[in-house]
Amino acid sequence: MSAQVIDGKAFAAKVRDQVSEHVKLLKVEHGIVPGLAVVLVGEDPASQVYVRSKGKQTIEVGMHSEEHKLDIATSEADLLSIISRLNSDPAINGILVQLPLPKHLNEDLVINSIDPAKDVDGFHISNVGLLGTGQRSMVPCTPLGCLMMLREHFGSLSGKDAVIIGRSNIVGKPMAQLLLGDSCTVTVAHSKTKNLKQVVSHADVVVAAVGRAEMVPGDWIKPGAVVIDVGINRIPAPEKGEGKTKLVGDVDYDSCSKVAGAITPVPGGVGPMTIACLLANTLTATCRANGLTEPEGLTV
Ligand code: NDP
Repeated sequence: MSAQVIDGKAFAAKVRDQVSEHVKLLKVEHGIVPGLAVVLVGEDPASQVYVRSKGKQTIEVGMHSEEHKLDIATSEADLLSIISRLNSDPAINGILVQLPLPKHLNEDLVINSIDPAKDVDGFHISNVGLLGTGQRSMVPCTPLGCLMMLREHFGSLSGKDAVIIGRSNIVGKPMAQLLLGDSCTVTVAHSKTKNLKQVVSHADVVVAAVGRAEMVPGDWIKPGAVVIDVGINRIPAPEKGEGKTKLVGDVDYDSCSKVAGAITPVPGGVGPMTIACLLANTLTATCRANGLTEPEGLTV
């Protein structure tokens, strides 16, 4: 059996189309243009690629995009003052501070200085608390994208056994809250989990968010299970030539796709959905800020 490939790229294009349509309506009917500001401190090459891609896609869906590129030596006070300015800027509905920040900046302090209503990454402590208590919040983009793909695949997730490997604040924990919210029975595994193979082998849904290349082999997967691979790992690819590299996920795609019912590829799975959900969150934040109805299916 070969698993159905969950095409995150195509799904993300559909989400972007929906966002784009709604942005047009907002402009025509209310004269509103959603605005997203992305703040990048330093010159981390991966972060620069993400920020460029976010800015490009923001413009493509008809939103206002601002990039604030700051020197690596920017002080905490200066960064907080920029965020404070963006918090009170009526042209900005979403603020994203690209992580990781340089070591001298306190990430928690910086994230919690963002107006929670503009916190389109969903990392502010207020949004974390709202999500954890089942209240309306801004939902972190990566788990939101995973949930959208799972809902599309299953219809209802109620009663499914879900195992999440990884307990980070940006993926594992919010993913667990979302799947609980959809009435899954949720297990969150981590580096201290015993018998991980046995834990994973019972799951109808496996979400791998570990950061270890191809860690989950096919013989851990229950036949027919749905596998969502969040991992992005760059490894050497000598078959492509000397010094070449390639991206792989946290699951071993070849063996897992022989057993799973459906699986997300890397690249082309969760990654594109993350940026699409950032745009969806910016639209949601804009609708809420203006007391307008939110488009259906773009948030929980
Ligand atoms: P973190 O490093 O913050 O968390 C990794 C988690 O994996 C931790 O909870 C850790 O456990 C757990 N872990 C580590 N080793 C093992 C092991 N051997 N067995 C079981 N669990 C283990 O990573 P993130 O959550 O930020 O990211 C995870 C992956 O997802 C990365 O590859 C990252 O690049 C990718 N990612 C992809 C995104 C996308 O858009 N597709 C967005 C965000 C992340 P413990 O807590 O005990 O240390």
